[in-house]
Amino acid sequence: MSRRVLVAGGGLRAAAAASSALAEGDTVTVVAPDLVATLEDLVHRGLVSWRRGELSLDDVLAADVVLRVPADGADRRPRPGTPAGAVGDVVLVGAGPGDPDLMTVGGLRTLAEADVVVTDRLVPLAALDAVRPDAQVVDVAKIPGGRSTGQDAIDALLVEHALAGRRVVRLKGGDPFVFGRGGEEAIACARAGVPVRVLPGVTSSVSGPALAGIPVTHRGLTQGFTVVSGHVPPDHPDSTVDWKALASTGTTIVVLMGVRTLGAIAEALVSGGLDPDTPAAVVADAGLPSQRRVDGTVATIARVAADAGIGAPAVTVVGRVVEALPLEPAPVA
Ligand code: SAH
Repeated sequence: MSRRVLVAGGGLRAAAAASSALAEGDTVTVVAPDLVATLEDLVHRGLVSWRRGELSLDDVLAADVVLRVPADGADRRPRPGTPAGAVGDVVLVGAGPGDPDLMTVGGLRTLAEADVVVTDRLVPLAALDAVRPDAQVVDVAKIPGGRSTGQDAIDALLVEHALAGRRVVRLKGGDPFVFGRGGEEAIACARAGVPVRVLPGVTSSVSGPALAGIPVTHRGLTQGFTVVSGHVPPDHPDSTVDWKALASTGTTIVVLMGVRTLGAIAEALVSGGLDPDTPAAVVADAGLPSQRRVDGTVATIARVAADAGIGAPAVTVVGRVVEALPLEPAPVA
């Protein structure tokens, strides 16, 4: 039976506790005067309820379990044992698509060693339980249509903490170098003389389809896959993708950041010569308890996804691989 879990705290550690409880099937209420962006996002998505204020006796009595979560910390001291003036470092860690099981062993180990963790919206929040209690966690989530931290501010934060002698982990959804702006962060660190390295992660462009039973390549069907950003639609002045060329590559096409633009993208592929009957699927929230898959053809997929209320984050796959495996598509809730 679902337990009523009350989480006292509004920071990232509270978000981590809430996320672990949700994964257990619990009903979660957060009590805090304010929320970090990532926790506010969980509330907006209807996954968690929020009572604004301090913890009261009534809250405690109404709950089956009460979790008092430590604050995110604002420890400005250098790493213990660091010689004065020593520079720390930055590790860009890929956290996978959302399931803590899809973080790498090295990623988890590095997380546990961090003095400061700077984290995104699409990371597996429950993995933050591995962070040392005395470490600081900082939320720099970019919430679509909501609060967001600018890239310059993120770069500056990484550099500032490392120059103060701390081991900084920059935790990013999927792989840091696949539409993750990890390259920009690496350049910012290098320019400031901060040692930086990357720990690759499981990218949603491959694992999103896989988790829904779709292989991005399959012998006899396709000899490759092409991953593109759908952030701007094909007719947008900032678009540099040659959609007509893409339509005739014969490879599987994987589109990230393309929920809003799916209609325009599908149209561009069909007018570029792709068979309108080519199978297509959208996988949303891959690796999360809310994972969903919808199926159609390149001609119908935008409508199918819209009718099913599919929202970001979602990966679209176009190609015969969508029908390669004899797996039932997950039922649409
Ligand atoms: N670096 C990330 C991608 C960042 S761009 C990676 O390698 O996976 C953000 C886009 O990734 C989203 O708009 C969506 O298209 C995709 N995405 C990330 N996590 C996802 C998930 N759990 N399920 C489906 N798509 C996801």
